[in-house]
Amino acid sequence: MVVLGAGGVGKSCLTAQFVHNEWIESYDPTIEDSYRTQVSVDGRQVMLEILDTAGTEQFVAMRDLYMKTGQGFLLVFSITSRASLQELATLREEIIRIKDDENIPIVIVGNKADLVDQRAVDRAKAFAISQRWQAPYYEASARTRTNVDEVFIDLCRQMLRRDDADLPHNHHDDIYYQKADDHGSSRRKNRRKNKEHRNRCVIL
Ligand code: GDP
Ligand code: MG
Repeated sequence: MVVLGAGGVGKSCLTAQFVHNEWIESYDPTIEDSYRTQVSVDGRQVMLEILDTAGTEQFVAMRDLYMKTGQGFLLVFSITSRASLQELATLREEIIRIKDDENIPIVIVGNKADLVDQRAVDRAKAFAISQRWQAPYYEASARTRTNVDEVFIDLCRQMLRRDDADLPHNHHDDIYYQKADDHGSSRRKNRRKNKEHRNRCVIL
């Protein structure tokens, strides 16, 4: 999974809390690192790889690459910054464009929920946006470790569901998409068509 969001919203602090159970007051904002951790989701042991991004990519191609390879995205903003919520819209659009998939697993996180006096984003507003995006919304705090496990596990659960649904046809899909027309909209159409086909197979 990939942790994305504006600089300073708490991506590294959330990741450090989840992976190492520790609060790091100040984290080098330029450090981009990946972590592997074993988690238990609904009784299943899963090896999770988390990329904590830093927005320091020198080449757009690098971001394209992790958006392409990421299977789930934690979109983090800070409840103390309206601009950080606005940035998520662009990131989400880019993910959907690059993955060519509107149902990619996403969780929206309003971090720094402990800073109640500095709140700049209404809970209801953030929730409404998350509903429009059909993604769950959590308010979290890396500082007090509130909802930290919940956001990572929720995303992981979505990714597993997605994986389970895709598995029988994965290989077939890869070949199918490689052969598909390169033009974006027609590929999307193919994918939708293919998904319908996949659903029918599952029901049968
Ligand atoms: P990143 O750039 O998104 O990785 O942000 P960081 O994780 O480095 O955090 C940026 C700053 O916000 C640091 O000074 C953290 O101490 C602070 N911070 C991160 N999460 C929280 C939180 O939940 N509550 C509070 N009060 N501060 C936080
Ligand atoms: Mg960071």
